[in-house]
Amino acid sequence: MPSIAQNINQIEQQLPQTTKLIAVTKTKPVMVLQETYDAGFRRFGENKVQEMTEKYNLLPKDVEWHMIGHLQSNKVKYMAPYVSMVHSVDSFKLLQEINKEAKKNDRVIPCLLQIFIAQEETKFGLSEQEAVEILTSPELSSLTNITIAGLMGMASNTENQEQITVEFKNLKTLFESFKQYNSSNVEMKELSMGMSGDYIIAAQEGSTLIRVGSAIFGSR
Ligand SMILES: *Cc1c(COP(=O)(O)O)cnc(C)c1O
Repeated sequence: MPSIAQNINQIEQQLPQTTKLIAVTKTKPVMVLQETYDAGFRRFGENKVQEMTEKYNLLPKDVEWHMIGHLQSNKVKYMAPYVSMVHSVDSFKLLQEINKEAKKNDRVIPCLLQIFIAQEETKFGLSEQEAVEILTSPELSSLTNITIAGLMGMASNTENQEQITVEFKNLKTLFESFKQYNSSNVEMKELSMGMSGDYIIAAQEGSTLIRVGSAIFGSR
């Protein structure tokens, strides 16, 4: 069986320079994260605040922690001191909460707006209209302890490569068009799309961050 380091190398070799890999370590024990760290890797993604915080406390402090899962406002305070990027912002209220907790920690937290792109009922995310409402909100410029650094999306869980391609193309188009809203705390530069099953398509369609778990660590 290939090692974690071999899996990461193999994935990174398939990526253009502009696409960075986030190793999704959710459900994996700290030992596995430490092994990944020891192999020289520093960018980890988790989907639960409590689990991420436990791991943060046990690992060296130069790890970049990416929150990729659905977030409740009351959990934001636990990760605000250390989280590198929040990929899963799906309401203005959540953005306000992240701003408030970031301020308490005297830092600025980069956030991505999660956009609903799949043809499935179950995935979280904003519609284009809802994202525009956030980006044009008069209140947004007062949130000086967050930046909106780009968009995140998850394609449908399907074998249909054409459908996945279309969904990623749509998100990329939205990403480019949202650059019109760039402002003091909005800079559309990161496009977080692509997981184990579809990261090659995502990278081809312009993803800057792919979030890959099972292709590195095996199935959960
Ligand atoms: C679990 C998860 C991933 C990684 O999924 P894999 O299929 O294991 O690569 C990516 N993004 C999000 C939001 C996730 O929850």
